[in-house]
Amino acid sequence: MKSQTETVANDISGLRFLVVEDHGFQRWALSRLLTELGAKHVVCAADGDTALEIFRESRPPVDIIVSDLDMPGMDGMEFLRHVGEAGAPASVILASGLERSLIASVGAMVTAYGVALLGKIEKPTTAAKLAAIIANHKPLDADWGRARAAPRFSLDEIALGLKRGEFEPYFQPKMELATGRIVGAEALARWRHPERGLVGPECFIQAMEDGGLIDELTFAILNRAAQCCRLWRNAGVDATMSVNLSLRSLADFSIADGMMRIVSTNGLEPRHVIFEVTESATVANLGTELENLTRLRVRGFGLAIDDYGTGYSSMQQLSRIAFTELKIDPTFVKHAAEGRANMAMLESCLEMAYKLGIVAVAEGVENLAALELLKSLGCEQAQGHFIARPMEARDFMDWVQLPRTVTPELRDEPGPATAHRANVAPAPFNRVQV
Ligand code: C2E
Ligand code: MG
Ligand code: MG
Repeated sequence: MKSQTETVANDISGLRFLVVEDHGFQRWALSRLLTELGAKHVVCAADGDTALEIFRESRPPVDIIVSDLDMPGMDGMEFLRHVGEAGAPASVILASGLERSLIASVGAMVTAYGVALLGKIEKPTTAAKLAAIIANHKPLDADWGRARAAPRFSLDEIALGLKRGEFEPYFQPKMELATGRIVGAEALARWRHPERGLVGPECFIQAMEDGGLIDELTFAILNRAAQCCRLWRNAGVDATMSVNLSLRSLADFSIADGMMRIVSTNGLEPRHVIFEVTESATVANLGTELENLTRLRVRGFGLAIDDYGTGYSSMQQLSRIAFTELKIDPTFVKHAAEGRANMAMLESCLEMAYKLGIVAVAEGVENLAALELLKSLGCEQAQGHFIARPMEARDFMDWVQLPRTVTPELRDEPGPATAHRANVAPAPFNRVQV
């Protein structure tokens, strides 16, 4: 049987490493360990400035950076911020003598800077620790590239795209954890740009909100999503559809009427539709927004508080608005297993949903371990790449109608939408203890 070190050696000879470490002996030891593991391209830097220069000029680009955090001059944190700004698809391994909780918070920080974090190792660094982390390396996927590339568009270009009907919803399924049933789908806006290809919301939502075009997008997405929802309901699929609603749109008193019209024109009822509102969005006219949100609720629409846990006044907003669903931000889901603070956040989100008697939906479920953890904590629904990535309307129609049998064949890896990933064996439904 091959040792882990041997397996890694086969894979890492083609990877380019950059070791950033101010301490001479540690630098030498790290580069030796990498060479022992089979690396053929290892470059070292003794400080952040030199590392940044190497990183920017490296052709082909660096694949993996192994960086210390505590360095004189430009420290590891500043260096990694610049790496994030450069937008090159390198993964980072943090190697540090700092205590575990501090390394974990730097990990969260670099992720927020858009750097792909491969792993964290506490010193002393050993071949086994390095090998285990490097074994997880994958070339960064298309979504990451899409987010990093983030082309900018003028408001006129966006308006033209809207006029031409180039915006459409992609659908990401929401799964009931206790049964594996698909109970809904979130409509996520995509721009099918004639020259740039498929463009994600990070490239147009903010501009639309600032430039007064967001209502037009909301209605365009709602309209097309409602048509799709009608089709899947006709096919016997009892799944709701969720649409993201910008707080800016809630300044308009006629919004609920407009939405009612679209929903009934498509033969749907308000209870088939959930509007997701992000709690971190700044509230401009609280009274107006509350009136419009409450009106949507009174008409029978579902209301979800999106990205829960990232805002500053969650408690206040929740107590004011009759939400029906709480969507837990992916950060807490992804990192729950790594640190006590994230686990505590995840548990407290679930507890909040339970106390309010509303549905908890975890976002960003990327592997089987996260899914199992959520199930054991009593979370009702989940969404994430492990279940399925967002997909085109017609693919979703096919996907959601595939027969789902209960099978233990779930593979522990994210990937393209496949039917068997949704086939989760029913588990006892434990509610969070409060
Ligand atoms: P959101 O509403 O929280 O949507 C979830 C985001 O997480 C989506 O990103 C989805 O593709 C991504 N995601 C789902 N599962 C996973 C996973 O397992 N791992 C990771 N890393 N990501 C996952 P997307 O489509 O790029 O949308 C980003 C945000 O843009 C949305 O966040 C929402 O706030 C906004 N947005 C999207 N469509 C609309 C829209 O029609 N109107 C408005 N106002 N905002 C929208
Ligand atoms: Mg959402
Ligand atoms: Mg969200």
